[in-house]
Amino acid sequence: MKSIADKYGRVHDYLRISLTDRCNLNCVYCYPSFAGIKLTDKSDLLSFEEILRLVKIFAGKLGFKKIRFTGGEPLVRKNVMDLFSMIKNLKQLYSFKTAITTNGTLLNDKIYDLKKYGIDKINISLDSLKEDNFKSITGRDNFYDVISAIFNAKKAGYDNLKINCVVMKGINDCEILDFADFAVKENLNIRFIEYMPFSNNGWNDKEFFSYKEIFNKISEKYELIPAFSNGSVSKDFKIKNNNGVISFISSISDNFCSTCSRLRITAKGNLRLCLFSPQSNELNLQSLLNNSSISDSDIADIIKDYLLLKPKEHPVTEELVKLDLNYMLTNGG
Ligand code: SAM
Repeated sequence: MKSIADKYGRVHDYLRISLTDRCNLNCVYCYPSFAGIKLTDKSDLLSFEEILRLVKIFAGKLGFKKIRFTGGEPLVRKNVMDLFSMIKNLKQLYSFKTAITTNGTLLNDKIYDLKKYGIDKINISLDSLKEDNFKSITGRDNFYDVISAIFNAKKAGYDNLKINCVVMKGINDCEILDFADFAVKENLNIRFIEYMPFSNNGWNDKEFFSYKEIFNKISEKYELIPAFSNGSVSKDFKIKNNNGVISFISSISDNFCSTCSRLRITAKGNLRLCLFSPQSNELNLQSLLNNSSISDSDIADIIKDYLLLKPKEHPVTEELVKLDLNYMLTNGG
């Protein structure tokens, strides 16, 4: 069986592909107006043909088992369903699962197509259960679009839906128990994500709320029972005597680098070893694809060698805040 590993023996089989670094929300922690983020020109985005070829290389030659489409907001990419329908054909040739991470604003009229094109899993980001707080976090009025997308996705058969919630002290930590209630009432998996520093995103430790603090808050009302997490990056818990799952993504207070199995491709086709890799270390896959003397097998070999450069873990928070040109939006979150 094909597989690739880094020099620490971590098998890598999970690829995240950014379809665009554009987003229709302006979340305070991700895409603040003051960050001065330079987005990729549309003409420089990976084309659908290039994405398909990369999927063939990763799934067919390197044994990747899961491919997640993200961004930016993946559903703002023009004709994205055409891409997903072509990906579905590849799924029949190689055995891999597909997923998307979306802010949910454009999901309502696309859910049944996503099902039709075999997208196996959907993660929806939602940081507030209050319309006004949603607007102050995202800068937009789409609260009800996202809420209805959650219900419609469940109706369409996405019962493995995960809801991502970034917790910031003084912004939405007061809603943690509301989210836990929401998990119980609607039988959802709510994943609380620690607020991470990116270049110019205004991160500061006064707004940081650790997973332990979130855990303690939820424990005031519910008993959390550790659940088997199947090598995932999250710490997963069942809620005693209730429906729903609560998960924590503790990238900052308790990193999970030792079990990392992910590689990322940015919207312009650069391969990244880690969310926090310096941009200067990216491997430009688009130029390899455009070189007619380089075959798919050559590219697979180059990727294998490149993976050996992956560091054991990401730098400590004091270093992360100093990283230049490192944006969640352009990295493919
Ligand atoms: N637009 C899509 C969405 O909203 O889900 C996909 C891209 S978004 C960058 C992916 C995830 O990264 C979202 O759940 C978002 O909340 C999270 N995210 C962005 N910036 C973050 C930060 N500074 N700390 C923690 N999570 C962050």
